[in-house]
Amino acid sequence: MKTTQQLHDKACQLLTERGVSIDDIADLVLHLQTPYIPHLTMEEAVESVHSVLRKREVQNAIITGVELDRLAEEKQLSQPLNDILTSDEGLYGIDEILGLAIVNLYGSIGFTNYGYLDKVKPGVIKKLDSKIGSQCHTFLDDIVSAIAAAAASRIAHNEPEKSRLTQ
Ligand code: MG
Repeated sequence: MKTTQQLHDKACQLLTERGVSIDDIADLVLHLQTPYIPHLTMEEAVESVHSVLRKREVQNAIITGVELDRLAEEKQLSQPLNDILTSDEGLYGIDEILGLAIVNLYGSIGFTNYGYLDKVKPGVIKKLDSKIGSQCHTFLDDIVSAIAAAAASRIAHNEPEKSRLTQ
């Protein structure tokens, strides 16, 4: 059984290997939260992302989602799942469901932020969405959106007087 710290480090390593840095996710947090908390710093956003990454549910979602994306790229999954993942079929929906396990951690603001990131696709989400060649980020885009949404919601809950809960 791995410790939470080992799983945290593994999760960070997997994100890096798949082209997503902690700063990329923190940028999304700032994008979501600075309209409500203008003084929010990059350091605070990074710390909130790390706090989300210390949760076991989040680590498990990263390990699972990245593995499926990788196996799909390497054509190691059975059909029809392999083709569904590599074509990022719109009606598949299980990738979004995996993200919900992360968003769930910080209440209803998380859901709003998650839906917003999926629709607007700012920053690194856009990069993951416009994948090159045989790359498959079907799970990763939702996982990254969910981590950013959860980290932003965590900040909102910590500063209730400065951030409107109706955002
Ligand atoms: Mg997806």
